[in-house]
Amino acid sequence: ASRTVLISGCSSGIGLELAVQLAHDPRQRYQVVATMRDLGKKESLEAAAREALGQTLTVAQLDVCSDESVARCLSCIPGGEVDVLVNNAGMGMVGPLEGISIAAMQNVFDTNFFGAVRLVKAVLPSMKRRRQGHIVVVSSVMGLQGVMFNDVYAASKFALEGFFESLAIQLLQFNIFISLVEPGPVATEFEGKLLAQVSTAEFPGTDAGTLHYFQDFYLPASRELFRSVGQSPQDVAQAIVKIISMARPPLRRQTNSRYSPLTLLKAVDPSGHLYVRTTHSLLFRWPRLLNLGLRCLGCL
Ligand code: NAD
Repeated sequence: ASRTVLISGCSSGIGLELAVQLAHDPRQRYQVVATMRDLGKKESLEAAAREALGQTLTVAQLDVCSDESVARCLSCIPGGEVDVLVNNAGMGMVGPLEGISIAAMQNVFDTNFFGAVRLVKAVLPSMKRRRQGHIVVVSSVMGLQGVMFNDVYAASKFALEGFFESLAIQLLQFNIFISLVEPGPVATEFEGKLLAQVSTAEFPGTDAGTLHYFQDFYLPASRELFRSVGQSPQDVAQAIVKIISMARPPLRRQTNSRYSPLTLLKAVDPSGHLYVRTTHSLLFRWPRLLNLGLRCLGCL
């Protein structure tokens, strides 16, 4: 029998690619419920799904920030039984925190953190009853280490990491697996949406020095990072497909080996000194070295 896979945030990017790849599984192992907040945006997904549409893939409305929307979506799935839940919906936030309202920060947590928690609460009772299930969470390398001017986004991904690592221990008792997937930069609408956001934002109340560091140091370095080591959403989706097919899926999986020199800086020095000092120096003292280093990594 095929496994029912529910994915959030499928109108674009990683979610769209993952839904399409799973629906086209040559062995037809999956029934994909590809969900999105706004069904008006379903055209690209339906075009990419082709003949799988209505067969191994159905499109459904789901806003991860709404209890009613989650309940309505699950009520359309036979028995409400989800075998694999992929928490993919998410949003970014960059900029100096002095210029960002608490309400805007809470919106990021509502989507990235509580959105995933809401879905898990909804599917968990049935998974526990059936003693089976797999919960995949699209986290980020920023769930493992902070990045300048991404304070709130990184915090929302750290929250996911702590929540799901804690849950993973209990759920082993129920034969339910958790997998946190940690991509580096991915070339999706994500970066474009962020850049559009910052091009119109004024970050009121932020001092000139901080704005200078954001605009003249962080933004160019970030663009360079996407250009040099950015991964395609297809690549990330492929990594997730592999994890979903495993009998014993891992708790954590980084998808981009070209980014791992940066994550290693934290892993090898638990004091945190090496990661913070090195990235600080690369950004502020030797920005050219950062670009060069990343380009070299991009060529490997
Ligand atoms: P994307 O912007 O193309 O996709 C995000 C999707 O989430 C969109 O379809 C958006 O409509 C949806 N979404 C936002 N709020 C929602 C809500 N309330 N309810 C339902 N859907 C909602 O970008 P992406 O890169 O494909 O992002 C997917 C995931 O990957 C996110 O969790 C993101 O944090 C993570 N990620 C992205 C990158 C990157 O560089 N692009 C890197 C690491 C992790």
